[in-house]
Amino acid sequence: MRIKKRVVWQHLLGLLLVILPTAEGNSVPLQNDDVISVHHNSSVTLTPATHELAATDQIDLEVSAQVRSVSFTLAQALQVESITLGQESSSQGASFTTVQIPGSTAQRIVVMLPEEHGHKVTLVWAYRGPINDPPKELRHLRFVTPSETAGHIGLEGVYLSGESQWYPDVEGSFSTYRVTTHIPEGWTVVGSGRKVAENLHSGMVSSTWIVGERSEAFTLVANKFVTKSKEWKASTTGQRVEIQTHFLRDNAGLADEYLDATAQYLDAYVQILGDYPFEKFAVVENFFASGLGMPSFTLLGSGSIKRHYIQPYALGHEIVHSWIGNSVFNRDGHGNWVEGLTTYLANYYWHELVQDDRQAFEQRRMMLQGYNLYVRPEDDYAVAQFFRKHDEKDNAIGYQKSAFVFHLLRREIGDEPFWRGLKTFVGQYRNHPADWGSIEKVFSRESGQNLRWFFEQWVEQSGAPVVSLGDASAHRINKDGDQTVWQMTIRIQQSEKPYRMVIPIKVVMEDSSEERSVMLNPSRINAVELVLPNAPLWVELDPELMSFRRLARYQLPPVLNSYVTDSDKTVMRAFSDPASPLEQIVSRIEEHEPTDSQRTRVVALEGHVVPREGSVLILAEAAQGQAVQSVVLESCGDRATLKDTGFRIDGQSYDGPSMAVLFSCHRTNVPGSVLTVLYGVTSDAVAKVARLLFYYGWHSYVIFQDGAVKKREIWPGQEDTMEVRIDDMS
Ligand SMILES: [Zn+2]
Repeated sequence: MRIKKRVVWQHLLGLLLVILPTAEGNSVPLQNDDVISVHHNSSVTLTPATHELAATDQIDLEVSAQVRSVSFTLAQALQVESITLGQESSSQGASFTTVQIPGSTAQRIVVMLPEEHGHKVTLVWAYRGPINDPPKELRHLRFVTPSETAGHIGLEGVYLSGESQWYPDVEGSFSTYRVTTHIPEGWTVVGSGRKVAENLHSGMVSSTWIVGERSEAFTLVANKFVTKSKEWKASTTGQRVEIQTHFLRDNAGLADEYLDATAQYLDAYVQILGDYPFEKFAVVENFFASGLGMPSFTLLGSGSIKRHYIQPYALGHEIVHSWIGNSVFNRDGHGNWVEGLTTYLANYYWHELVQDDRQAFEQRRMMLQGYNLYVRPEDDYAVAQFFRKHDEKDNAIGYQKSAFVFHLLRREIGDEPFWRGLKTFVGQYRNHPADWGSIEKVFSRESGQNLRWFFEQWVEQSGAPVVSLGDASAHRINKDGDQTVWQMTIRIQQSEKPYRMVIPIKVVMEDSSEERSVMLNPSRINAVELVLPNAPLWVELDPELMSFRRLARYQLPPVLNSYVTDSDKTVMRAFSDPASPLEQIVSRIEEHEPTDSQRTRVVALEGHVVPREGSVLILAEAAQGQAVQSVVLESCGDRATLKDTGFRIDGQSYDGPSMAVLFSCHRTNVPGSVLTVLYGVTSDAVAKVARLLFYYGWHSYVIFQDGAVKKREIWPGQEDTMEVRIDDMS
């Protein structure tokens, strides 16, 4: 069935594999174009012990004059007891038909309207039944266990989203809501919008929620929460927002940390995106693993909350979704731009905002590396074709490349028009769906440029430019008088499909260096002329990673994910104890290997030479340090040296029984493949690392002490540099 009520899914730690509860395809045609407005005034009693709800919903509809029937969807498990026309005691039952939607958990209910309805119709529904789909745990090589459910009412918690179909919904509509919930004492409900009343009566807590702006869905969750709140006030506009945490008892002590972080993100993003679009923001603990951004709240799994999930890519990302996705909606069926823009503003731009250049660079590297490792050219698809994330490739296209496209757009039109355009876009599309075309329209207008070529090239076409330095030469010229300058010519090649793009070039001269941005035309060879004050020594293509391009694996920093994404992989056991935590890694790899991929070979290091092809992961204990060292030397040189009592990495020694290291080097003479080693001085030192190994996929080395990260760094891949040839013109 068509997923019409979307929640915005966030990737946990950038690695979460999200499988959505409903399959795509089998789309249901919209039949309610003539429905002008929908308002729900409902009352719902939740009984966690029996998984049931009982509800009445007075639905006020404004429809075109010719409308004779309206089509609703509702979860199949819910039983409609009555639908009446009007709310007076004299009101009559409405006639309706019910059809099960094939391949879906929903039923479609078509209600006939009276002939003379005068545009306005009130339907009062009474319905009840169970919503009982306990979250399923999914397992994945990355050992993240996201869960999925279409909705659940149970003693462990209540989760009812639009996808749960827990209320009669006019397909394709944006509605306003007034919802009163009743739940046993001790439970707290958190719903979309603003809470306007709460009281306790006969052992039941009732609370009333209002959503006054058109919204895609009403989501409510409930649990035995400990609640904390404070008021946030915007320094610039004076806007006031109540920020809240609703945590289970174990995590209640973390409330202040989350409230403070929320305030900090709101401070920053109201300046970029305009007024915060809701009256509250709540961080709510979920009873299953999730990172969900809903209108006015975010729902995070207990594990995430415990791990201090307040980083820009985590809580920051959820808060940006308040504007991007929950206030400006993604137009269903037209590609998903929401995740790319949110990722750009939260995961990336936050670091620029706080002037952490190093982290900003790291994020650009990870966006580029994610795309280059996980998207093979033959499997690539256009950003416009991204709908939702099913695997790392979708993540690399729909989040990472898409985020980078916004970076390119900003560089193309300039900072001022970009940020002005963004604010205009958010304001103009508030409470409305938008698509890539809307973005193009707004930014073209705000920048005064025709950006058709930009969106066609970066959004509608798959792939990335393959750019390299062809030649660089310079000669001395004498300008008027005695002044000497250097004229340099750089030839930049584009293999594959040539792009129109700007790429920075760093020119290193005898006693200085300069960075220039050069414009490439969509042709195979671009000759670029630069005039320089000094004799150039060498040039480097885009050292700060400001452009988006296809890079060969050996050009990227060697990391564990280079091993993970190699089609030819070997794991080598360099330990003898079958009870070693390293053995758990071997079994997990064997267990989780997708059956359609080439199998990973598992061999013992002893008596074997390292395979001639492919990437190698060596799992090593101290007793075999010497044997591993001889293999390491060939690929890593003096970057990594293993000893019985410790190791030396990048010239620094780390000794002691609590130390472990994970490092990767490009394999000498095997272009594109890596040698990765996990080495622990003792079994204890490696045990905790072994459990979370694949979380450490993006660095060339990670040093651990007692399982905690002590240091992580990157070893660059092969850089795009070229010596400048000096032509003697004299
Ligand atoms: Zn997201």
